[in-house]
Amino acid sequence: MAITCTHLDQIREVTPSARGCEECVKLGERWVELRLCLTCGHVGCCDSSTHKHATSHFHQSHHPIMRSFEPGADWKWCYVDAVYL
Ligand SMILES: [Zn+2]
Ligand SMILES: [Zn+2]
Ligand SMILES: [Zn+2]
Repeated sequence: MAITCTHLDQIREVTPSARGCEECVKLGERWVELRLCLTCGHVGCCDSSTHKHATSHFHQSHHPIMRSFEPGADWKWCYVDAVYL
């Protein structure tokens, strides 16, 4: 399987910044699933959630790769290349 992502060098050993979506917690909102930024450890909510904070984080920070922060899920996603890793 060919991986076409050129951003793998931006993956770091990150510590999750929170146990929930930081922005949603502040807003008192709920989310559907969580995503973890693999460059800085930002935790944000997925695109099925109202506020899509994981995607907002990508637009603000340009950190390309996140992974699912759900128990048992280990897929990663590159926003720039739009591929699963
Ligand atoms: Zn990539
Ligand atoms: Zn959120
Ligand atoms: Zn980040």
